[in-house]
Order: sequence, then structure tokens, then C-alpha cells
Amino acid sequence: MKAKIVFIIVVIMLLTIGCVKEANIETEQPIKQVQEMLCDIPLLRTYDDFNLYAFEHDDFDYKDEVSSLIEHIDYLNGKYSIDFDQTVNIIVHETQAEFDKYVTSEFLKGGMGFASNNELHILAPYSDNAFMTYSKFKEIFIHEYNHLYFGSLCENELPVRWFNEGLATYESPGYNKYTGSSVKEKIKQGMLSVTNLNEGNFFDYSGPATIVELIEIEYGTDTIVEIFKNEKSLNEIIELSDEALNSKWISYINTNY
Ligand SMILES: [Zn+2]
Repeated sequence: MKAKIVFIIVVIMLLTIGCVKEANIETEQPIKQVQEMLCDIPLLRTYDDFNLYAFEHDDFDYKDEVSSLIEHIDYLNGKYSIDFDQTVNIIVHETQAEFDKYVTSEFLKGGMGFASNNELHILAPYSDNAFMTYSKFKEIFIHEYNHLYFGSLCENELPVRWFNEGLATYESPGYNKYTGSSVKEKIKQGMLSVTNLNEGNFFDYSGPATIVELIEIEYGTDTIVEIFKNEKSLNEIIELSDEALNSKWISYINTNY
């Protein structure tokens, strides 16, 4: 078993402004460890790959979400040869205040999910955060699991943030052709380029996800794994500067969407 310590904090904040937009905030600051909190939240069920810590709720039993996640883990294991042997502790917080207790930075408060070490923290779908919905819960559940799964590849630092978010988004059931079409619109409007992908909005997810798609098609799945290991920079691995990658991406989007 490889002993790997990866400190990742990924917080998703979801905002609704007209249409649904997402903002993502990421930091490498440590959070309080979960052990402290497990005293408060009961272990609801255990599975092969994860433990679910949550309170029982009359109208919500997690069954759909759990089976989607199990199916997703099988998919990941079938596609990637990643030796992810950690048992993830999934901790469901019922209120924003409880969730926020486990985030050290004021800036990160108000988020809905984050992944750190082998812990996945998420707000309950019935929480007091008006932006959290049942479908968002399912989406964030898998998105954050992806961060832990791929994060296990890194011995030290994570790769560039847009790639980290892009891969977590790309490898989610919600990723589809529509994502590419919406990215194409933004590119047309001159609002997206490889150099402005870290500004905290919806396109920090969908834009990068389409670049990951391009990288997979042009370079293969092994290259995605290599980039995530981050022993060399993404630019070195794909042998393209940001500017060259940007041109390649724009032409890929225009051709395929
Ligand atoms: Zn994320």
C-alpha cells in the first residue's frame, strides 16, 4: 500500500444568477481533521470503498446517490489503472454552519462540498443552503469523489487548478455534449482562454473539462494520469505552451461542437 498524503481542499460554491452558475474555490490550506467531527455525525452505512456518515432523514435515504457513486467507482476503476485503496469517509453536514466549522478560511465558508485527504464533506440535499438541491447533491458527491480518486496520484502538489477541476468535471455523469456547446459560445464571445480559467465561475469547470477531453483524444488516458501525477508540468508533458494549447483547444471546440 502506498502511503500518500495529499492535501486537497476543494470547495464548490454554487450560485444562481439567472441561470445556474457555479463558482469553485480551492485552497491548499489544511482543514480540521474529520476524526474530531465523527463524534457528532453517526456512521449510517459502510460500503466497500467508503463509509457514509450522516443522520437518518425521513425523506432521504441516500440509496440513489450511493448506487450512482458505486457505479461511478466501477467506471473509474475500469478506465484508469489507479491504485486507489483508501476508504473514503463521506460526511454529510445538515447545516451550512456545521459544514463551515470544518473549513479554516473565512473565504471558503458557504461552500457545498470539498474533498481533503480521504474525506469528502458535503452539505445534505435538504440543508439550509438554498442553492443545494437533490440533483446538485448527486453531482457534487461524484465530483468530490473524483478529486480524491485522482488526488491519490499526487505525491506532492496538485496539477494546475483548471486541470484538476476539469478532470473532476469531465469524469462526471453530467458531462455531455451540451457542455461543449456552452463552452463554444463563451469562446465565441472571447470570454474563455487557457490563461483565464481560474477566475471562479461555471466555466472553470466546463471549459477545462473540454480541454481534458481534447487531451484524452489527442494524447490518451495515460497522459491524463501523467499530468495528474504532476512530476512534470502539464505544458512539458503535452509539449505545448498555454498559448499553443489555447489555439488547439479553440480549434477543437469549433470543429467538434
Ligand atoms: Zn472541484
